[in-house]
Amino acid sequence: MTENRPVKPQAGRHNLDPHLDRYAARTAGMTASEIRALFAVASRPEVVSLAGGMPNLAALPLDTLSAQVGEIIAEEGLVALQYGSAHGVPALRDQICEVMALEGIKAHPDDVVVTVGSQMGLDMVTRLFCDPGDIVIAEGPSYVGALGSFSAYQAKVVHVAMDDQGLVPEGLREALKQAEKAGQRVKFLYTIPNFHNPAGVTLAVERRAEIVEICREYGVLIVEDNPYGLLGFDGQTYPALRSIDPDNVVYLGSFSKTFASGLRVGWVLAPHAVREKLVLAAESATLCPPTFNQMIVSRYLATHDWKGQIKKFRENYRERRDAMLSALNQHLPPGCSWTNPDGGFYVWVTVPEGVDTKAMLPRAVTARVAYASGTGFYADGFGSRQMRLSYCYPTPERIREGVRRLAAVLESEMDL
Ligand code: PMP
Repeated sequence: MTENRPVKPQAGRHNLDPHLDRYAARTAGMTASEIRALFAVASRPEVVSLAGGMPNLAALPLDTLSAQVGEIIAEEGLVALQYGSAHGVPALRDQICEVMALEGIKAHPDDVVVTVGSQMGLDMVTRLFCDPGDIVIAEGPSYVGALGSFSAYQAKVVHVAMDDQGLVPEGLREALKQAEKAGQRVKFLYTIPNFHNPAGVTLAVERRAEIVEICREYGVLIVEDNPYGLLGFDGQTYPALRSIDPDNVVYLGSFSKTFASGLRVGWVLAPHAVREKLVLAAESATLCPPTFNQMIVSRYLATHDWKGQIKKFRENYRERRDAMLSALNQHLPPGCSWTNPDGGFYVWVTVPEGVDTKAMLPRAVTARVAYASGTGFYADGFGSRQMRLSYCYPTPERIREGVRRLAAVLESEMDL
């Protein structure tokens, strides 16, 4: 007879989970992001949420899409509802190359691997390249979902500062020099060059070749994450790092912000030599990305004015960005500063010394406004005087009201 012994709770950890002793060591790095923990409170209707980064899909042509989904089932149903290749639907991979050409990338469709959102691309790339203890260099602050992937594979993040022109090349060089001196293995630079999440800044064109060059010099790969690149408010685009150095840049793309996030279709464009490993990693993660969703994206791109649709999205976001910046100017107390995004979803705010944005958050939620506190965007606990405000989702009126409430909370915090 087997004895049914209770699992002993570990000291210092909560004992509600009887499986605590069984988890792999790497799960120690898996903690709920502060932002996800916020979602429940922030989604109460009386709270103006400037916290989440949900794309605003209101401008999508739902009738057209509904007809197209029906056509796919009628015309290609048995293929659309079947497994496909881990590599992705060929027609969509051709179209993805056309999308990337808008930012100067020349790619062969065979080098494109379709993923379940670019988040899966991040996971796969980290899985392929990072052993526990390896270093990933990332901007400080950086995308919280990327930090989650790095920590899940026990990679260590070294942050490099940005200014209003994006990642600072001398900072990157210094970090690489220090790592080399310390004998640490740097696996890649993870960077979001355009309309940064969360910082709202864009890497200056003059810095791009320099950053590519520095990474070459130190033998470090670049992982370029670019979900917002086509959301410049003036329709401006920037040369992708991938277009400068195709053999040393893994590029991550996504239809989440330019079409529909719920379809979960993104892609990785890897250097040719990496492609095969990437397909194998994709296969072991999901067998194949969802055929049906890929066909929806492909038909949409083939038959709809998708560039015109992106323009509509951009106009929506620009109106919201304007509402946020003018409200910040009008209401935020002296001593606060913030970035001026010219695309994307986010403003990064720095508050006066003595205010702790993480500690302040519950009081802000009581005052019916939510934001994402800065510490979630750093791997090293920095960011307590920073916060990310998202303007993508609420209406301009709600944004103005949210900033008014936030300013009042900040003022009372500064009086304490
Ligand atoms: N990278 C960045 C910088 C993001 O902001 C996001 C989503 N917020 C992602 C990747 C993941 O996007 P998805 O998986 O929807 O393509």
